[in-house]
Amino acid sequence: MASADIKKKAKEILIMNDMYLVDREYQILSLSKNPESFQILLELLASGDVLHVQEAARVLALKGDFRYIEDILNIRKHLPSRGGLRDYRKSIDDTILILEERKKGHECNCGIYSKTSFHPRYEEKIGFIKIINEVVNENNTVYSCICNKCDRKWQVEEDLTYHYPIFNWH
Ligand SMILES: [Zn+2]
Repeated sequence: MASADIKKKAKEILIMNDMYLVDREYQILSLSKNPESFQILLELLASGDVLHVQEAARVLALKGDFRYIEDILNIRKHLPSRGGLRDYRKSIDDTILILEERKKGHECNCGIYSKTSFHPRYEEKIGFIKIINEVVNENNTVYSCICNKCDRKWQVEEDLTYHYPIFNWH
């Protein structure tokens, strides 16, 4: 696929307004072993579209190919801030953190969870962990999780003292 075709494909995804079709495109990109799938994801990441930046970052983390860390960092540097409670570019920082782990040879994220505030539901959606129990308290929710790769168990406590929920992994 020539670079013009990669840009064209990314543009096609960017203008889709059927969420089902958008999900399907990201599903295909996540399963593809084709180098073009990375180029398309990088285009989507560079688009600056809040939804697509987050989706592309999620899929790049899932694919786990650390050879793209430099490209991703470059794109991150040029994305404008957009306001909102949570900076959409934080998704890219999370992806870089995960790819750095893969570079070290770690197949799961258990080495970094205690340093992050990753949402357990998100981690489950991506397929890194499974939530095995959820206790809803008056002030927060506590999730019991297990890593799909190494079986390590985690207690994840929601902290609602900020403007948006933070998660502490123990
Ligand atoms: Zn693990």
